Amino acid sequence: MDFSTGHMGWIEVVCGPMFSGKSEELIRRLRRALIARKRVQVFKPVIDTRYSAEEIVSHSDSRMKSEVVAGPQEILDKLDWRTQVVGIDEANFMGPDLVQIAQQLADSGKQVIIAGLDTDYMGRPFVPIPDLLCVAESITKTLAICIRCGNPAKHTQRLVESNDLIVVGASGMYEARCRSCFEPGIPRQEYLEFARPRLTPAQTPKQD
Ligand code: ADP
Ligand code: ZN
Repeated sequence: MDFSTGHMGWIEVVCGPMFSGKSEELIRRLRRALIARKRVQVFKPVIDTRYSAEEIVSHSDSRMKSEVVAGPQEILDKLDWRTQVVGIDEANFMGPDLVQIAQQLADSGKQVIIAGLDTDYMGRPFVPIPDLLCVAESITKTLAICIRCGNPAKHTQRLVESNDLIVVGASGMYEARCRSCFEPGIPRQEYLEFARPRLTPAQTPKQD
């Protein structure tokens, strides 16, 4: 969103799977804000220093200077209150408090642009993106290209075995897949929790 409305703030969310161009789009919007001579600050979570500790970096190697934060509260601590545009990348690693903090920033007149994964490796909504969509003025869903069949891809396929929600990685560990080619897999622990009430002890899969 590029409209100017005096001192009113708002929230923009760019969400989709990995490789769908979220970081590219975030950087594009932030560069436009810089061209408009706005004061910009960019934040990313400490968990994601894969490519650079001081920059947000897209898979196509588009880069922009950023600050690392341990969580959303630190955005407020590091914020220069003259900043007019706040960019946040990898919001899915920021936790649920980001919703209230994004609201606070927008209420105080800032343009808040947030990029993050909308679903996890199982295809489930990824906190806090669903709640951010509800409070945002603008929502953009980006799609990647399915590596298997070339169709539009809305899923992030994990290629390594792990039951952890967060396994930070890029090419080789994840790929983009469409809804037909996506294979979410069933993490063992979640399978047991879900299945236990309906299984007799003899049927319950043995845990190592
Ligand atoms: P995201 O932030 O959503 O992970 P990026 O903005 O970092 O995405 O990277 C997008 C770029 O990734 C594309 O412009 C393209 O060059 C590259 N890319 C690699 N694999 C794919 C794919 N399967 N589909 C689309 N783009 C891809
Ligand atoms: Zn496909």
